[in-house]
Amino acid sequence: MEKYLTKTPEETKKLASQVAQKLKIGDVVLLKGDLGAGKTTFIQGLAQGLEVPEDYYVSSPTFALINQYPGRITLFHVDLYRLEAGEVEDLGLEDLLEEGILAIEWAERLPYSLPHSLLVEILVSSPTERQITIKTLKGESNDL
Ligand code: ADP
Ligand code: MG
Repeated sequence: MEKYLTKTPEETKKLASQVAQKLKIGDVVLLKGDLGAGKTTFIQGLAQGLEVPEDYYVSSPTFALINQYPGRITLFHVDLYRLEAGEVEDLGLEDLLEEGILAIEWAERLPYSLPHSLLVEILVSSPTERQITIKTLKGESNDL
Protein backbone atom coordinates (compact mmCIF):
# COMPACT_ATOMS: atom_id res chain seq x y z
CA MET A 1 0.00 0.00 0.00
CA GLU A 2 1.31 3.45 -0.91
CA LYS A 3 0.03 6.81 0.28
CA TYR A 4 0.41 10.15 -1.48
CA LEU A 5 -0.69 13.70 -0.89
CA THR A 6 -1.36 15.91 -3.89
CA LYS A 7 -1.92 19.66 -3.75
CA THR A 8 -3.18 20.38 -7.25
CA PRO A 9 -5.12 18.51 -9.97
CA GLU A 10 -1.89 18.53 -12.00
CA GLU A 11 -0.07 16.65 -9.23
CA THR A 12 -2.84 14.06 -9.16
CA LYS A 13 -2.52 13.63 -12.93
CA LYS A 14 1.25 13.33 -12.69
CA LEU A 15 0.95 10.61 -10.04
CA ALA A 16 -1.58 8.76 -12.20
CA SER A 17 0.63 9.08 -15.24
CA GLN A 18 3.45 7.43 -13.27
CA VAL A 19 1.09 4.66 -12.17
CA ALA A 20 0.17 4.15 -15.83
CA GLN A 21 3.78 3.24 -16.65
CA LYS A 22 3.34 -0.01 -14.70
CA LEU A 23 0.02 -1.01 -16.21
CA LYS A 24 -0.47 -3.65 -18.87
CA ILE A 25 -3.33 -5.17 -20.84
CA GLY A 26 -5.83 -6.83 -18.50
CA ASP A 27 -5.15 -4.53 -15.54
CA VAL A 28 -8.06 -2.90 -13.73
CA VAL A 29 -7.89 0.38 -11.82
CA LEU A 30 -10.71 0.61 -9.26
CA LEU A 31 -11.38 4.18 -8.10
CA LYS A 32 -13.18 5.10 -4.91
CA GLY A 33 -13.90 8.53 -3.49
CA ASP A 34 -16.74 11.02 -3.12
CA LEU A 35 -18.13 13.16 -5.88
CA GLY A 36 -15.47 15.74 -6.72
CA ALA A 37 -12.67 13.77 -5.04
CA GLY A 38 -10.65 13.49 -8.24
CA LYS A 39 -11.43 10.09 -9.77
CA THR A 40 -11.91 11.49 -13.26
CA THR A 41 -8.84 13.71 -12.82
CA PHE A 42 -6.80 10.60 -11.92
CA ILE A 43 -8.03 8.84 -15.07
CA GLN A 44 -7.04 11.89 -17.13
CA GLY A 45 -3.53 11.30 -15.78
CA LEU A 46 -3.70 7.60 -16.67
CA ALA A 47 -4.59 8.63 -20.22
CA GLN A 48 -1.62 11.00 -20.35
CA GLY A 49 0.69 8.25 -19.10
CA LEU A 50 -0.68 5.87 -21.74
CA GLU A 51 -0.03 8.49 -24.41
CA VAL A 52 -3.65 9.02 -25.38
CA PRO A 53 -3.61 11.97 -27.81
CA GLU A 54 -4.35 15.29 -26.06
CA ASP A 55 -7.40 15.97 -28.22
CA TYR A 56 -9.24 13.13 -26.49
CA TYR A 57 -11.24 14.68 -23.71
CA VAL A 58 -11.39 12.29 -20.75
CA SER A 59 -14.68 12.68 -18.88
CA SER A 60 -17.11 10.28 -17.26
CA PRO A 61 -19.05 8.22 -19.78
CA THR A 62 -22.79 8.91 -19.71
CA PHE A 63 -24.82 7.70 -22.68
CA ALA A 64 -21.96 5.68 -24.08
CA LEU A 65 -21.49 3.86 -20.72
CA ILE A 66 -17.96 2.94 -21.72
CA ASN A 67 -15.43 5.43 -23.08
CA GLN A 68 -12.47 4.17 -25.03
CA TYR A 69 -9.25 6.11 -25.51
CA PRO A 70 -6.55 4.90 -27.90
CA GLY A 71 -3.12 5.08 -26.31
CA ARG A 72 0.06 3.02 -26.17
CA ILE A 73 -2.44 0.58 -24.62
CA THR A 74 -6.19 1.15 -25.06
CA LEU A 75 -7.81 2.68 -21.97
CA PHE A 76 -11.47 1.89 -21.19
CA HIS A 77 -13.31 4.13 -18.73
CA VAL A 78 -16.58 3.39 -16.95
CA ASP A 79 -18.45 5.23 -14.21
CA LEU A 80 -20.85 3.06 -12.20
CA TYR A 81 -22.42 5.97 -10.28
CA ARG A 82 -25.81 5.83 -11.95
CA LEU A 83 -25.94 2.14 -12.84
CA GLU A 84 -27.90 -0.70 -11.23
CA ALA A 85 -26.15 -4.01 -10.55
CA GLY A 86 -27.93 -5.66 -13.50
CA GLU A 87 -26.84 -2.88 -15.85
CA VAL A 88 -23.26 -3.25 -14.67
CA GLU A 89 -23.37 -6.98 -15.42
CA ASP A 90 -24.63 -6.22 -18.94
CA LEU A 91 -21.57 -4.06 -19.65
CA GLY A 92 -19.44 -7.17 -20.15
CA LEU A 93 -16.40 -5.56 -18.56
CA GLU A 94 -14.38 -8.82 -18.48
CA ASP A 95 -14.34 -8.88 -22.27
CA LEU A 96 -12.57 -5.50 -22.37
CA LEU A 97 -9.66 -6.88 -20.36
CA GLU A 98 -8.40 -8.84 -23.34
CA GLU A 99 -7.99 -5.58 -25.23
CA GLY A 100 -6.81 -2.98 -22.76
CA ILE A 101 -6.74 -1.41 -19.32
CA LEU A 102 -9.99 -0.71 -17.51
CA ALA A 103 -10.51 2.22 -15.13
CA ILE A 104 -13.71 2.13 -13.03
CA GLU A 105 -15.15 5.10 -11.12
CA TRP A 106 -17.42 4.24 -8.16
CA ALA A 107 -15.87 0.79 -7.98
CA GLU A 108 -17.79 0.04 -4.77
CA ARG A 109 -20.79 -0.50 -7.05
CA LEU A 110 -19.13 -3.34 -8.95
CA PRO A 111 -21.28 -6.42 -8.15
CA TYR A 112 -18.50 -8.94 -8.85
CA SER A 113 -14.73 -9.07 -8.69
CA LEU A 114 -12.20 -8.52 -11.44
CA PRO A 115 -8.61 -9.81 -11.59
CA HIS A 116 -5.35 -7.84 -11.60
CA SER A 117 -6.73 -4.85 -9.81
CA LEU A 118 -5.24 -1.73 -8.36
CA LEU A 119 -7.39 0.11 -5.83
CA VAL A 120 -7.09 3.90 -5.78
CA GLU A 121 -8.89 5.62 -2.90
CA ILE A 122 -9.06 9.41 -2.89
CA LEU A 123 -9.89 11.40 0.23
CA VAL A 124 -10.52 15.14 0.16
CA SER A 125 -8.47 16.72 2.94
CA SER A 126 -8.88 20.36 1.85
CA PRO A 127 -10.31 22.12 -1.22
CA THR A 128 -7.03 21.47 -3.03
CA GLU A 129 -5.45 18.58 -1.14
CA ARG A 130 -6.14 14.92 -1.79
CA GLN A 131 -4.89 11.89 0.12
CA ILE A 132 -4.47 9.11 -2.40
CA THR A 133 -3.98 5.51 -1.31
CA ILE A 134 -2.97 2.90 -3.86
CA LYS A 135 -3.23 -0.81 -3.08
CA THR A 136 -2.61 -3.86 -5.19
CA LEU A 137 -5.38 -6.40 -4.78
CA LYS A 138 -4.97 -10.12 -5.16
CA GLY A 139 -7.60 -10.55 -7.79
CA GLU A 140 -10.67 -9.90 -5.68
CA SER A 141 -12.49 -6.58 -5.56
CA ASN A 142 -15.12 -7.93 -3.15
CA ASP A 143 -12.80 -8.07 -0.17
CA LEU A 144 -11.99 -4.35 -0.10
P1 ADP B 1 -14.68 12.80 -9.38
O1 ADP B 1 -14.50 12.14 -10.70
O2 ADP B 1 -14.11 12.03 -8.23
O3 ADP B 1 -16.11 13.19 -9.11
P2 ADP B 1 -13.30 15.03 -10.62
O4 ADP B 1 -11.97 14.52 -11.01
O5 ADP B 1 -14.34 15.15 -11.69
O6 ADP B 1 -13.86 14.16 -9.38
O7 ADP B 1 -13.18 16.45 -9.94
C1 ADP B 1 -12.21 16.76 -8.99
C2 ADP B 1 -12.27 18.26 -8.75
O8 ADP B 1 -11.39 18.63 -7.68
C3 ADP B 1 -11.82 19.04 -9.98
O9 ADP B 1 -12.60 20.21 -10.09
C4 ADP B 1 -10.37 19.39 -9.65
O10 ADP B 1 -9.93 20.57 -10.28
C5 ADP B 1 -10.47 19.59 -8.14
N1 ADP B 1 -9.20 19.39 -7.42
C6 ADP B 1 -8.64 20.28 -6.57
N2 ADP B 1 -7.51 19.83 -6.04
C7 ADP B 1 -7.31 18.59 -6.58
C8 ADP B 1 -6.27 17.62 -6.43
N3 ADP B 1 -5.23 17.78 -5.59
N4 ADP B 1 -6.40 16.48 -7.13
C9 ADP B 1 -7.45 16.27 -7.94
N5 ADP B 1 -8.47 17.15 -8.13
C10 ADP B 1 -8.40 18.31 -7.45
MG1 MG C 1 -15.92 11.44 -12.09
